[in-house]
Amino acid sequence: MSTVAEPTVATEKKPAFTLSWIDGEWAVPHGAHHPIVNPANGETLATLPYAGAAEVNRAAKAAHEAWLQWREVPVVERVQPLYRFKTLLEKNVRELGAILTRENGKIFEDAMTEVKRGVQMVEVACGMPTAMMGDSLNDVAKGIDCHTIRQPLGVCAGITPFNFPAMVPLWMYPFAIAAGNTFILKPSERVPMTPTRVVELLLEAGLPENVIQLVHGGREVVEALLAHPLIKAISFVGSSPVAKIVYKEAAAHGKRVQALGGAKNHLVVMPDADLPQAVDAIMSSAFGAAGQRCLAGSVLVPVGEVAEPLLDLLVKKAKALQVGDGMESGIAVGPLVSADQKKRVVGYIEKGVAEGAKPILDGRSVQANPQGSFVGPTVLDHVAPTATVAREEIFGPVLSVIRAKDLDDAINLVNSSDFGNTTTLYTRSGKAAREYQSRIEVGMVGVNMAVAAPMAFFPFAGWKNSFFGDLHAHGKDAVAFYTEQKVLMTRWF
Ligand code: NAD
Repeated sequence: MSTVAEPTVATEKKPAFTLSWIDGEWAVPHGAHHPIVNPANGETLATLPYAGAAEVNRAAKAAHEAWLQWREVPVVERVQPLYRFKTLLEKNVRELGAILTRENGKIFEDAMTEVKRGVQMVEVACGMPTAMMGDSLNDVAKGIDCHTIRQPLGVCAGITPFNFPAMVPLWMYPFAIAAGNTFILKPSERVPMTPTRVVELLLEAGLPENVIQLVHGGREVVEALLAHPLIKAISFVGSSPVAKIVYKEAAAHGKRVQALGGAKNHLVVMPDADLPQAVDAIMSSAFGAAGQRCLAGSVLVPVGEVAEPLLDLLVKKAKALQVGDGMESGIAVGPLVSADQKKRVVGYIEKGVAEGAKPILDGRSVQANPQGSFVGPTVLDHVAPTATVAREEIFGPVLSVIRAKDLDDAINLVNSSDFGNTTTLYTRSGKAAREYQSRIEVGMVGVNMAVAAPMAFFPFAGWKNSFFGDLHAHGKDAVAFYTEQKVLMTRWF
């Protein structure tokens, strides 16, 4: 197979370590060193030294000092480095995509799309001069004027997952920084190279060096961030059990917090759906990024008589998807992020079968690199609504099928889930779509969509165990999250 990208990944010019950026210098934290492995072939790409509480303390102090200056910089000037950052991201999209594919596994096209979605976040954050505006009304009482202003919070921190190492950090710090905060990023320790390269570009764009801090590591770094008195707000994206802990801990330390968690997303297909269109969308949703998306379809719910023709077409088409290294052309499904993740996904498939499901497409035997962490598209039919694979997040290319007799039945099934991140209804009926959108207890709802991912100027978050907090990610919510409102009332004599 030919490769689709020139190997411009900065491996030759980069050091063997993926470094943290703390207090204006690239630092080698003192903790243990962990290998970063390409999940497509088992090759070691870099070594990540973990930071701990001492490095968090240093980063927080430096970020706080920087904030005292940064908050005084007019917002129109604060966004200037972000304009240059956007251009640098666009210029380096292939390099970033290649790094991302190598450490995360997703296919090169998807990796570049991810970077481009990140660029959109930067574009929206550049609108902060208008987004931060307050309200104003003169003569609220005789001779008294009233207006609101938005002010930055101080040092904010972000903790991010492995599956979108470029985009998810960009949900956070462009908005935080433009609003006048300084920011500490703790990316996933499994994919540190992409966020590090992105921070390099941000510094190259001319952001004052201590406005951003990058602290690599695991749980110890997170715990130190949640407790540090100089940190005023925490943005978290990751699995639900950790999101819940982060929410509780950060709130207990008096911080503002938004914690986006995991998912179990249902795709409901009505008998009147456009089947070929629906099947393409379902495949993209369930098997794209090897199912490692918080918006991935995970439970397929055919309604009534559509089940047999839908499953026949789905299995036929999914069988043709090429599984392999995401840097090669023609590949539709890359590896899972790690050998551990593969073990977890295979374990779920085994459990599904043990609990009575019928694998009508089984990706466990997929032929790709034996050193890689591959699982092919898998469809488990006749899954009971109470089965483990019907209720728990798998985070792999596995679709569990639960049949529903009508729309009511489907809505009740979806609403019985502990999660509420996204769902999509496939139908030609406006009435059914409207009813679904109104009654479903889910945060992001699609109709005939593959992945109903809100763009940068709309908010992003689920309901129930998919989200802990009030203000969602990006869009207007990000402006509200990273600022505090003040009401000013004035009377002159
Ligand atoms: P994860 O919860 O394992 O890790 C996320 C972050 O938390 C990482 O930075 C990690 O270092 C840290 N962390 C992990 N365990 C911790 C612990 N015990 N204490 C403190 N910190 C800890 O998540 P992941 O496996 O990297 O990412 C996949 C998960 O993220 C999935 O559940 C997926 O649905 C979710 N996700 C959600 C969204 C969303 O918008 N809701 C978006 C992307 C990913």
